[in-house]
Amino acid sequence: MPTHEQDRHPGRPAFALEPALWTTLEQALAVVERDARATKVTGTLRLTIPDWDPDGPARVEFRGAFQGNGIEPAEGRDAQEALATVADAAQEVIVEMLWRAWPVCPVHDRGLRAELLGGVAVWRCSAAGAHQVARVGELPPEAA
Ligand SMILES: [Zn+2]
Repeated sequence: MPTHEQDRHPGRPAFALEPALWTTLEQALAVVERDARATKVTGTLRLTIPDWDPDGPARVEFRGAFQGNGIEPAEGRDAQEALATVADAAQEVIVEMLWRAWPVCPVHDRGLRAELLGGVAVWRCSAAGAHQVARVGELPPEAA
């Protein structure tokens, strides 16, 4: 995974001025990727600024595809906020590519939502009065 994507694709000026914002978002995606792998989702996930929107926000690419509005640099100011935002963006493109809900509550078989709860990024299920399934990056491994 290229770590200095912003050098080749400037994107929003903030990424060039504060490379740490990019790094935080990239690290957040690595954490979200753990959830993807734990739930048997395969295919390349990466943070990038696509050629077709060189001055745009960061985007999560999955299997070469994009979905959604992208991620503004400011989302990289807080690691947990970055995690919730990146999880949401990754979910959008993964769901689009897989044509099914992801990730899914192991109890209710319902699609989860990434939320910031008490300053911590978590996956929540809306069933049974809503409950927290796991912190982002800590989804239980799915059986084969
Ligand atoms: Zn549930």
